[in-house]
Amino acid sequence: MIIAEHQAGSNMANKSGVPGSIRAQVFRRDGFRCQRCGIQGFEFRGDQHVSYPTGDAGNFLSIDHITPKSKGGALADPRNLRTLCTSCNSKKGTTVVAEFDVK
Ligand SMILES: [Zn+2]
Repeated sequence: MIIAEHQAGSNMANKSGVPGSIRAQVFRRDGFRCQRCGIQGFEFRGDQHVSYPTGDAGNFLSIDHITPKSKGGALADPRNLRTLCTSCNSKKGTTVVAEFDVK
């Protein structure tokens, strides 16, 4: 499936630099499930900001860059993005995790 990258005019980028529409797409692709520990969240969205709280208190699903931007990874390409919970994402640091098989 070809996915349009870099939607012009999008002002929905968060601090990760990933537009909200791309984030939602990745979360849906991954089934709202952390790709490391498997915790599943549920969709909770407003008009602009999209948040995906998981079942456990304090954990939110977040977008992770498989190849970090600092290492040349694409910023908003779903093929370089995956769903991680905030707990796993914070543990990851800048390590490139290669075992993840992008769908
Ligand atoms: Zn996790």
